[in-house]
Amino acid sequence: MKYHSFLIKYAEIGVKGKNRYMFEDALVKQIRFALKSVEGEFEVTKESGRIYANALTDFDFDDAVEALKRVFGISGICPMVQVEDLGFEELKKQVIQYVDQVYPEKNFTFKVNARRANKQYPLTSEEINRDLGEAVLEAFPGLSVDVHKPQVMLHVEIRSRINLYSQVIPGPGGMPIGTNGRAMLLLSGGIDSPVAGYMIAKRGVVIEAVYFHAPPYTSERAKQKVVDLAKLVSRYAGPIKLHIVNFTDIQLYIYEKCPHEELTIIMRRYMMRIAEIIARKEKCLGLITGESIGQVASQTVQSLAATNEVCTMPVFRPVIGFDKQEIVDISEKIGTFETSIQPYEDCCTIFVAKHPVTRPNINVIHRSEEKLAEKIDQLVETAVDTTETVICQ
Ligand code: ATP
Ligand code: MG
Repeated sequence: MKYHSFLIKYAEIGVKGKNRYMFEDALVKQIRFALKSVEGEFEVTKESGRIYANALTDFDFDDAVEALKRVFGISGICPMVQVEDLGFEELKKQVIQYVDQVYPEKNFTFKVNARRANKQYPLTSEEINRDLGEAVLEAFPGLSVDVHKPQVMLHVEIRSRINLYSQVIPGPGGMPIGTNGRAMLLLSGGIDSPVAGYMIAKRGVVIEAVYFHAPPYTSERAKQKVVDLAKLVSRYAGPIKLHIVNFTDIQLYIYEKCPHEELTIIMRRYMMRIAEIIARKEKCLGLITGESIGQVASQTVQSLAATNEVCTMPVFRPVIGFDKQEIVDISEKIGTFETSIQPYEDCCTIFVAKHPVTRPNINVIHRSEEKLAEKIDQLVETAVDTTETVICQ
C-alpha cells in the first residue's frame, strides 16, 4: 500500500477550550519541523479536531514515521487513505480495495468502526458498520467479524472527505514542545543529563542547555561530545540553544582556596548559580539536572540539599528516583547512550578529591565559600560574559 497521508492522534485529556488550540497549534508546528528532516514535501493541516500530515511528493514512509515518533504530543500515527465521498456503493469498493492492499494475508478478524462528523450522511454509523462489514466479508471469505477483540479495527471517518485507516503506530506521548514554558538543562557529557532533558522536553517544555568546560583540563573533543548530545536530544526537543561556560578559573580558584574534599560540592553550587543567572537572562523558569539520589558522593540527599540551597528557581530532577540501569534504558531508547559513553573527561572528574564529603555540613560549606570572597564575583561575572552560544539542531 502506498500511503500519502497520516492522521495524527493526540491525547486530548486536559486540553479543553483555549488550551486545546494552543496544544494543536504547537503540535502542528512541531510536526512540520520534524518532517523537514524527511525527504519529500509535506503539508500539515488542522481540521476540526484532526491533524493531518499529507505528502505532496514522493516520500520515504519509514523515515516519516520515525520523525513523527519523535514528536511529543502524538499518541498515535495512523497511515491513512483519504477518499472522496462518491456515495455508499463507491465507498464499499474503496474499503474493499483498502483491505485488499493493506492486508495481503486475508485471514484475520475485523470490525468496522464508522464515525460520522458529517451527520447529513444518508446512513447511520450502525448501518455503515453493518453494511461495510458485510461487503468486506463477501469480498474476502477468509475474514471474520469479531466485535469484541478484532485483530483489525477498520476506521471509517465520514467527513467532507472520508478517512480510512486501520493501523495505529504508537507515538511518544507527552505534550508538544512550546506548551509548557522554558527551562535550562545542565548538560554534561554523561548518560543522565541528556535523559533528564528529554524527559522534561516531553512535558512540552522548551529546553536550553548550559555546559561547563574547563580548558585545557577538558578537551575540545569533550565539548564536541556535549554538542553532539544536544543535537541528539534536539531531534525530540527541537533546536537547543547551548551555552558553553568557561569554568576553568573558577575551578582553579576553588581548588586553591577550599578544602579539597568539599571541592565537588562547592563547584556544583557555582554551576547552579551560573546556570541560574543564564537561565534568568533567557527567560527560563526552571533548571534541569540529571541527578539521581545516591548515585555518587555529590548526589546523597545531603549533597543535593547543599547544591540546591543556592537556587531560587525550581530545579527539575526527572531521574531522581531512577536506578542507573533505568536511565541507561531510556538513553538507549532515545539514542544518546553511545555518545554518552565515549571516554572524554568531564570537568568534574579532574578536580575530584579522593575522599569527597558525602554529608556536607552546610555551615562548613558556607565558611569555605567565604574564602572565595575576594575574587569570586568577578570570576562569575566574567564566566557569564564570555559564554559562547551554539544552536544545536
Ligand atoms: P551525567 O551523567 O548527567 O553527567 P553524573 O552521574 O555524571 O551525571 P554528576 O557529574 O554528579 O553526575 O552531575 C550531576 C548533574 O550535574 C548532571 O546530571 C548535570 O545535570 C550536571 N552537570 C555535571 N557536570 C556538568 C557540566 N560539566 N556541565 C553542565 N552540567 C553538569
Ligand atoms: Mg557527569
